[in-house]
Amino acid sequence: MDSVLYFCPFKNTTITMIPTLQIYNSLSGKKEIFEPIHPEHVGMYVCGPTVYNDVHLGNVRSFISFDVIFRFLKHLGYKVRYVRNITDVGHLQDGGEDKISKRAKLERLEPMEIVQKYTIRFHDMMRIFNLLPPSIEPHATGNILEQIEMVRDILNNGFAYESEGSIYFDIQAYLKKHPNYGHLSGRKVDELLAVTRDDLKGHSDKKHPADFAIWMKAEPEHIMRWKTEWSEGFPGWHLECSVMSTKYLGDTFDIHGGGNDLKFPHHENEIAQNTAACGVAPAKYWVHTNMLLMNGRKMSKSEGNTITPEELFTGDSAHISKAYSPMAIRFFMLQSHYRSTMDISDDALLAAEKGYHRLMDAIKTSNNLMHSSVIKSGVLDAHLIPLIEAPMDEMRDDFNTPKALAALFDLVTKINALNTGQLDINQVSSPVLQRMKETLNTFVLGIFGLKDDRASAGDTSTLDGLIQLLIQLRAQAREDKNWALSDRIRDALTNLGIQLKDGQDGTSWTFV
Ligand code: ZN
Repeated sequence: MDSVLYFCPFKNTTITMIPTLQIYNSLSGKKEIFEPIHPEHVGMYVCGPTVYNDVHLGNVRSFISFDVIFRFLKHLGYKVRYVRNITDVGHLQDGGEDKISKRAKLERLEPMEIVQKYTIRFHDMMRIFNLLPPSIEPHATGNILEQIEMVRDILNNGFAYESEGSIYFDIQAYLKKHPNYGHLSGRKVDELLAVTRDDLKGHSDKKHPADFAIWMKAEPEHIMRWKTEWSEGFPGWHLECSVMSTKYLGDTFDIHGGGNDLKFPHHENEIAQNTAACGVAPAKYWVHTNMLLMNGRKMSKSEGNTITPEELFTGDSAHISKAYSPMAIRFFMLQSHYRSTMDISDDALLAAEKGYHRLMDAIKTSNNLMHSSVIKSGVLDAHLIPLIEAPMDEMRDDFNTPKALAALFDLVTKINALNTGQLDINQVSSPVLQRMKETLNTFVLGIFGLKDDRASAGDTSTLDGLIQLLIQLRAQAREDKNWALSDRIRDALTNLGIQLKDGQDGTSWTFV
């Protein structure tokens, strides 16, 4: 396997091998070898939800994609700081009204009650789909001072102007020094101007249609407002991500992610703001997830072909024949590459559910496969080792989950054949058998974040079996002085909410 040798300044003497990874960079429009700014450490920022309503299935797909990327980067050996924000102010609708303020009026609640309500519901949904929490989850309203500071910096550097108490980013001034504006979304300046021409309606105080607000003067009825030298107002939506990403990850960091629909104007404007304020673009790699389709067509309310996560869980929709579990849906989503569109249909979900169950059954089967005594070498080893390595190779190719899943199913076929006796288990060496089990467990439960949701809530026997297996693997790793592996096992379990305790009578486990 290809790998990069890194000297780690934090450990002074240790040289760590991290396998190479190819990542598609939206900025260059091609796959690149991933080289983080600081060896071994990765900073990743993903645009989080605007908490004014329930998260929709397209958002869930995007967040699951980044959850798998987060898990895989950690699996490769990186220390990852993953920042995903909560937008609780400043995200305007087409008509210019703040989404949260509008919803608050509609539900007769305080804006912060709306924020609290939908943040809790968002977290619940992320837990249901078994996403790991990000390392930091900052709120836009918790970083207002920093946003005001960035507005000042952009003004002082000559890339913004004040008009009637609002501050606008000056696209023409920016373009003179940075003609690459529009590069990320592949738009030409003329097109950008055409797209945003309508924006002047209601914003006649702008100098140019392409300019966008980084600070907005609040209307008298607007509750969410902060005092500044320009006006009582609130920050623009694009500004918060510029501020929160660089506050926690530095002026430049490794990965910035989000849905394709955020490329323009959100991410394009983020790049412009950071460059205008700090002189450098924020992220090295831009990663974008694609959208959902329903029966081959774009999901849209006007076409009546939308479906919510809740409708999928209950089966209460004309588009599906039955209810699907969160893990079957998560498996279904992994069957599409994050950069491809994902087409939801009842047939595809039914097939995914079958595949998911087959995978879960294979984990049980594999964990029961045992040799009666240690076998040092086997004639099947040479055939099995490439199958064991294939899922890792596929994931190292721009996080190719569908191909990695297909590779895992090749392994599942062999595991089932060993179980039925079609293949002779004594022709597989003990280390290779162990690696087969390890690969299946690590990929399915760790990297893909799936779990068997068929077991009843109180039934932990399957779980106990799996954890005992991992405890054995860790004990073996410690015996071999393979501290990296033993730590990785312990950390992976901690991430799943399981704590190991080493005692005189061996290792036990508890839920954290
Ligand atoms: Zn954002």
